Amino acid sequence: MSEQGYNYINIGKFRDIRFLYYKNEIIGIEELHPENGDTNKVCGSTIFFGEDGWDLLCLNPLVVWPSIVCKNCNSHGFIIEGKWLDVSSLNPKINSLIKDYIDGKHPNQQ
Ligand SMILES: [Zn+2]
Repeated sequence: MSEQGYNYINIGKFRDIRFLYYKNEIIGIEELHPENGDTNKVCGSTIFFGEDGWDLLCLNPLVVWPSIVCKNCNSHGFIIEGKWLDVSSLNPKINSLIKDYIDGKHPNQQ
């Protein structure tokens, strides 16, 4: 685990993430959020990238696919362009944006 793995990044909506590394490669994300919206309680999920896990569609801006569901408090949303988007706030525009990333068409994709 490299030292850079301990830097949390705010992605909005009281949510922070940090990258998880193995041999200097990003292998996943730890994501922290208020439990059931209570900012006094910290809750979190960990996801891993790879064949049986999530896809890191873009690192900068960060886009992860598919959505992330918390096993503890059921918070559910996407990380798109470095920001957390609750599923409840989604609109059709997001679907086409995500599709562009999956297809590798997004102009900002690295
Ligand atoms: Zn939770």
